[in-house]
Amino acid sequence: MAKLYFSYATMNAGKSTLLLQASYNYRERGMRTAIFIASFDDRAGQGRISSRIGLTSDAIAFDHTDDLYRHIEQLNGDGDGEVACVFVDEAQFLSEEQVWQLARAADRLHIPIMAYGLRTDFQGKLFPGSQALLAIADELREVRTICHCGRKATMVVRLGADGKVAREGAQVEIGGNDKYVSYCRRHWDDIMNAD
Ligand SMILES: [Zn+2]
Repeated sequence: MAKLYFSYATMNAGKSTLLLQASYNYRERGMRTAIFIASFDDRAGQGRISSRIGLTSDAIAFDHTDDLYRHIEQLNGDGDGEVACVFVDEAQFLSEEQVWQLARAADRLHIPIMAYGLRTDFQGKLFPGSQALLAIADELREVRTICHCGRKATMVVRLGADGKVAREGAQVEIGGNDKYVSYCRRHWDDIMNAD
């Protein structure tokens, strides 16, 4: 029984590193993997994943109009060998429908799907993709990182180009030069709700 997995964390916890390592483990054994990434994440250029510690890989870029079930089905049947596992980076940007497409790929094509993404945005709200994954994924895994105080960091603060903390604004600033810093909930609350 193939499962849909969601590994979630805040920023800079090493999600992409874990994804690339897991994919490598399959490929090292001669098994085929497919790696998808939201196309409006251009940190590493279109269709490429790069982790902070230097690992990189080509990836299939997708946007909200793509049918991921069909895409996976086509890859699996293209004659280059069956897909042993599908990886999805920046899974917080999936639509609810795309999360269902991934669930159907697990259930009907019998391919494990491993999605990695942020749980919440800088205002502490769930992303649409994360909300759907938390609702229907078979297995949830938390990727841990720490706040400066040593507690588990679960929240993120967005700093604008001026270095000031953003309290309002779009969930995703495309092309922005914002920086993100991860904190525990207590210190996030201190920063976001300070006067
Ligand atoms: Zn803290």
